[in-house]
Amino acid sequence: MSRYRDFHRESIAHPEDFWRREAARIHWETPFDAVLDRSNPPFARWFCGGRTNLCFNAVDRHLASRAAQNALVYVSTETGIERRYTYADLHAEVNRMAAVMQSLGVTRGARVLIYLPMIPEAVFAMLACARLGAIHSVVFGGFAAPSLAARIDDAKPVLIVSADAGARGGKVIDYAPLVDEAMARAQHAPPHVLLIDRQLAPTRLKANYIVDYEPLREQHYEAQVPCVWLESNEPSYILYTSGTTGKPKGVLRDVGGYAVALAASMEYIFEGRAGDTMFTASDIGWVVGHSYIIYAPLLAGMTTVMYEGTPIRPDGGIWWRLVEQFGINLMFTAPTAIRVLKKQDPALLRSADLSSLRTLFLAGEPLDEPTAAWISQALGKPVVDNYWQTETGWPMLAIQRGVEALPQKLGSPGVPVYGYDLKLRSEHTGELCAAGEKGVITLGYPLPPGCMQTVWGDDARFVKTYWESVPGHEVYSTFDWGVQDAEGYVTILGRTDDVINVAGHRLGTREIEEAISSHAAVAEVAVVGVNDAVKGQAALAFVVLRDAASAADPQAAQTLEAAIAATVDRQLGAIARPARVHFVALLPKTRSGKLLRRAIAALAEGRDPGDLPTIEDPSALQQVRDAVAGAS
Ligand code: ATP
Ligand code: MG
Repeated sequence: MSRYRDFHRESIAHPEDFWRREAARIHWETPFDAVLDRSNPPFARWFCGGRTNLCFNAVDRHLASRAAQNALVYVSTETGIERRYTYADLHAEVNRMAAVMQSLGVTRGARVLIYLPMIPEAVFAMLACARLGAIHSVVFGGFAAPSLAARIDDAKPVLIVSADAGARGGKVIDYAPLVDEAMARAQHAPPHVLLIDRQLAPTRLKANYIVDYEPLREQHYEAQVPCVWLESNEPSYILYTSGTTGKPKGVLRDVGGYAVALAASMEYIFEGRAGDTMFTASDIGWVVGHSYIIYAPLLAGMTTVMYEGTPIRPDGGIWWRLVEQFGINLMFTAPTAIRVLKKQDPALLRSADLSSLRTLFLAGEPLDEPTAAWISQALGKPVVDNYWQTETGWPMLAIQRGVEALPQKLGSPGVPVYGYDLKLRSEHTGELCAAGEKGVITLGYPLPPGCMQTVWGDDARFVKTYWESVPGHEVYSTFDWGVQDAEGYVTILGRTDDVINVAGHRLGTREIEEAISSHAAVAEVAVVGVNDAVKGQAALAFVVLRDAASAADPQAAQTLEAAIAATVDRQLGAIARPARVHFVALLPKTRSGKLLRRAIAALAEGRDPGDLPTIEDPSALQQVRDAVAGAS
């Protein structure tokens, strides 16, 4: 472990030296005068005085040596469209988009809200903003009008870029009513919506604020728009957190620090090299999409694969066939997708030639042990769990195979990543936890390059929310709860909200979920705490069975419930045993695959779960209601 340990120690003890070296990975139009400005904690500024541009580094810089290499491969199983863009093509498209945006008043520092499905124009639009020094704010295409309006009012964009429609699982989602309603609701609606017409929607957006992209693109076909050189700490984008735990926060990121952090992560965490092909199956509306569909692979001179569709249409072999077809070397997705694929015929995986694939990366939510074990065995390749947040922009826990290929431990996303002074602390005293002792995952000052600079327009909220919640210590709180072993491996036990107190014992819902999911009959589980007159709180488990028939009659359900309870008793002790195990067909999740535990807990206590704009399938709520009602 010594290589990793030395590397990490050096990054924390001498951040200036460490990051000065890493900064050489990108082009600086003007060199920086200082690596780090720590004069105003908890704010940190990286590469002060240096001037650079994200679009230049992601696109223009590669023209000399890889103009004819694919930069972007686009596959939509929703529309059957497949397109390839070389770096030269990408450069031309980004210039066209940038010229169109300029003609609509987009300037340095102005915000552009991007509300698009997974189409190449989304990439062009983000890079065009970067080129112009404008600030993009991508809003996930699945959000409804009120969420969109709230983000318009927070970011106050000068332009919205949208499309006629999205598509998901074979269904066309008409954007016109959503955009119309959001424009009407918002106080700060911009004058124009630039419309990418995919000719998918049954109706056309007709409002007078609509500007069609295609004719403007033709008009600016030969445009050459110079990159605007930004000071390293000028903003690149605003991205709102998923809102799993409440009102989304507008995470603001810089330019230089982000570019350096991503470029370094490509080597040390992802082992990606120029010329490699990476497939990140996420959405451009999430941070994984920003960092690992777009910026990091392009900064590294790789080919990125952008995919519109689900992992199981036309069938569960589609992703594996893409690996074969495009010679994908690195793949990145969320555990939820793997759980979906696990239910498919394993022959679909085996029949594709996966020899190009080196590593599968998973992030976004806990990777349960059975899923981790299944996929690593099925693929026969390393599976690298990595833990991070919208706020950090890149992983903070992972096995950093490009530094040292430490062994994986099932259930743990690994060890602290270089640059992150990651420590577990008692939530009551803020003191450091001993090995094996549960605590809040915190980061010391300064956060490394690439992390959030502040909450957009609200420095006070940044300080108060993130830096003042651990008593007695000015450290950044992740609001996640975990435990670290003697070798430094951290296991995530859930969000601090998800910690429940059963008769004075503090338990992470994730621990109980892990125990339950080790039972062979269980496909998925959510555990929540509900008020209990005797014990303070009690754990309730909602289980999706691998085979629903195994709890079809009350007798079988009872037997299975007892068997699951016994599994928890064995692994964690009777104190953690759920008061009830309810069987449901579906769990309430966000569109990004995160369990909506707060909503489940509210339903279990008979409360209103509130507005859930990000929910994947609202019928899951009724499942929970029915399960609880049926049991009482
Ligand atoms: P909000 O902060 O608005 O409630 P969110 O936390 O769901 O939304 P994200 O930034 O998308 O928004 O999610 C980050 C969170 O996802 C982490 O704080 C952690 O709880 C969880 N997470 C991410 N990766 C992992 C992982 N590898 N293992 C366990 N949990 C993970
Ligand atoms: Mg969060």
